[in-house]
Amino acid sequence: MSVDVVTFGCRLNAFESEVIRHEAEQAGLTDTIVINSCAVTNEAVAQARQSIRKLKRERPAARIVVTGCAAQTQADMFAGMAEVDRVVGNDEKMRSGAWQATRAAFDAPLGIDASEKVAVADIMAVTEMAPHLLDGFERGLPRVFVQVQNGCDHRCTFCIIPYGRGNSRSVPMGAVVDQVRTLVERGHAEIVLTGVDLTSYGADLPGAPKLGQLTRQILRHVPELKRLRISSIDSIEADRDLLDVIADDPRLMPHLHLSLQSGDDMILKRMKRRHSRQDAIDFCTQVRRLRPDIALGADIIAGFPTETEEMFVRSLDLIAECDLTFLHVFPYSRRPGTPAAQMPQVEGGTIRERARRLRAAGEAALLRRLAAEAGATREVLIESDRQGRTEHFLPVAIDGDERGMVRRLVVTGHDGVRLTASTGDVH
Ligand code: SF4
Repeated sequence: MSVDVVTFGCRLNAFESEVIRHEAEQAGLTDTIVINSCAVTNEAVAQARQSIRKLKRERPAARIVVTGCAAQTQADMFAGMAEVDRVVGNDEKMRSGAWQATRAAFDAPLGIDASEKVAVADIMAVTEMAPHLLDGFERGLPRVFVQVQNGCDHRCTFCIIPYGRGNSRSVPMGAVVDQVRTLVERGHAEIVLTGVDLTSYGADLPGAPKLGQLTRQILRHVPELKRLRISSIDSIEADRDLLDVIADDPRLMPHLHLSLQSGDDMILKRMKRRHSRQDAIDFCTQVRRLRPDIALGADIIAGFPTETEEMFVRSLDLIAECDLTFLHVFPYSRRPGTPAAQMPQVEGGTIRERARRLRAAGEAALLRRLAAEAGATREVLIESDRQGRTEHFLPVAIDGDERGMVRRLVVTGHDGVRLTASTGDVH
């Protein structure tokens, strides 16, 4: 029995779970389940607890290790669960020593000593990334994530992430280029750069290279890379180089996801965000001028404390003002330890209702974009024998094709959720 890793939350966790699996197996752990948890909402933490209980019922002999942001921020709570054998911190989980120590604790003749149950250090003391060169994800996986940055120096008032991941730190450019090259050689067609606060990339490195410079380096030094995608960015921190790459390099996918959070200036101020409503609109106009077919997505929170109906409507209106295609809606979740938790809260039913209205507006926006694609020729990455995704990240219905291939297809219409397309040249 090997090591099973259950991943919750974001793309960073997805990347880190590959490292965890590798390191835990290298340490010789067997019959072990690792829960790589998320703390972004109360719901996410509850899901991790439920999953732990369920897995222990199903596999009573297996050892359970909890790591990830929820373990980092609520270590004692998890250590208090009888089903849990060990709690490992968010930085420790990326280091081989932590898994060797876990093996030693599990192999101790008298069993796991209570003092050995929690291995979680102060994440704010971490100043550099543990170096990793993954030699691959599951073979043939078309799209894979590469973590280039971790942690965050900002302190948005609703956000628990800095307390789970610490301050911002970056992977040196050379190591990122090596990682991307290795994954491309392994046959992964699309690389997604991921981090907690990607646009703060490099601030801690010699010469303080920015995300734009990193993107250029990757595209220059890995010419075989077909598709490079950037996960979520803080538009107000996008650098000049990045805008230039967006404008002139077709291998950088014309799709950006923006951390906008609200369309109201007073709420943005109370969130301690660095941009205004007009900044967000101006950024979208600017990138659309540089890359007219670009698809934009955004994260928006529904029901942030003190949000009135008028303020909320400004978030709704932002969808059209920025011509967004993809919307990730987050019903506000009161996270203990965050400043927003002390602010006057919006009633739960109102939060859910606003989230429902935002999602409906988001679905309508996607539908508009799907309809506008008719007749266009698109480069579609085949993800499975049922679906692919265009360079704009739009889903395409596919009927039996080779995973990982990029096919040039002509859009013939949509089924309300995905594009339909006719076959074209394969390359
Ligand atoms: S930028 Fe704000 S929302 Fe994003 S991780 Fe940092 S503190 Fe959280």
